[in-house]
Amino acid sequence: MGWNTLDDMDLNGKRVLVRVDINVPMEDGRVTDDTRIQRIVPTLKDILKAGGKPILLAHFGRPKGKHVPEMSLRPLVEPIAAAIEAPVMFCADCRGDAARAAVGALPEGSVLLFENTRFQPGEEKNDAELAEEFAELGDVYCNDAFSAAHRAHASTEGVAQLLPSCAGRLMEAELSALESALGDPERPVVAVVGGAKVSTKLDLLSNLIEKVDVLVIGGGMANTFLAASGIDVGKSLCEHDLADTAREIAAKAVQTGCELLLPRDAVVAREFAENAPSETVKTEDVPDDAMILDAGPDSVSHILQVFERAKTVIWNGPLGAFEIAPFDAATNAAAKAAADLTRAGKLITVAGGGDTVAALNKAGAAEDFTYISTAGGAFLEWMEGKTLPGVAALKA
Ligand code: ADP
Ligand code: MG
Repeated sequence: MGWNTLDDMDLNGKRVLVRVDINVPMEDGRVTDDTRIQRIVPTLKDILKAGGKPILLAHFGRPKGKHVPEMSLRPLVEPIAAAIEAPVMFCADCRGDAARAAVGALPEGSVLLFENTRFQPGEEKNDAELAEEFAELGDVYCNDAFSAAHRAHASTEGVAQLLPSCAGRLMEAELSALESALGDPERPVVAVVGGAKVSTKLDLLSNLIEKVDVLVIGGGMANTFLAASGIDVGKSLCEHDLADTAREIAAKAVQTGCELLLPRDAVVAREFAENAPSETVKTEDVPDDAMILDAGPDSVSHILQVFERAKTVIWNGPLGAFEIAPFDAATNAAAKAAADLTRAGKLITVAGGGDTVAALNKAGAAEDFTYISTAGGAFLEWMEGKTLPGVAALKA
């Protein structure tokens, strides 16, 4: 791999600046889901074990360069200390005299948490002076926040250019999972792209068509492709103005030898509501007054056949309106099949995206997937083939 890990760095007695994502959901000053805190534990423990002093740089919310007391990181001191079973000190700033004093006073075996980096106007501007100040507070920089790596900020990119840098354990896991899915995948590799709209996933589709062997298109965006091929999709969610674009993508797929899989049948209803009366029809037979809310059983078995002969599946976007039953059936069935094949050691499965992760959890399939990225925007930009500045800055 093209980046250093903690194993490549001399950490003993070193001040290690660690960029983490602890942007956890909070209610009344209490953490309601500590997943993000749990995920940085291996990195912090490994640094402590190697004799390093972890100094945490992190953002919380969108304070836009101003000091917003409700977005302080102070309430996270206790939850982090409990998770890593070590003392956590807090500094109410992340630069200047207070930050220098806190770093100087940090005892071995303890962690220092700085206040929200986004309280600094220079953070999101990737201000050189701020990056310089961060760099002076550490000897080594470790980025463990893949989910923030698509932004070139002072704490994700600027500082990485100024210190010996490496990926933390979570970043390492994320990068190697993503590499194994799209960088140098075991083939055949299948991408499943669903969700509501083609317009939000154009870059994604163009990139995948060049990299994968089969592209399964599902969800609302499949309607745009069906309509572009002359099929009447009734009242379905459909971006008719993107018909030309959909045809271009289909033509490009032929050129690159990527097989495009569109739904053959669909579950349709007259209203978008839980347990709305529904029927299964061939995609060419969608009634004028109905809308497609899920892929039908024939489409699902087609997808399962593709999974059977695949080695790698990368997935973003549900196949239907999974939030409301029974329109979660196709997503559930495909997710379960992918999970079973993964458990049997026959398939590598990588998925990401806010709604996708929710859908896979709902299907009870997430546990068995090889890797589920919780990185949201960064995962999508990576799937789109874009360079993530926070990752590029770590290149050894
Ligand atoms: P992600 O957040 O994983 O990137 P998206 O936000 O692109 O996924 O898509 C998820 C949304 O797509 C869900 O809210 C789902 O209800 C919607 N969706 C999927 N299929 C359809 C459909 N046929 N009609 C309307 N909405 C759909
Ligand atoms: Mg979404």
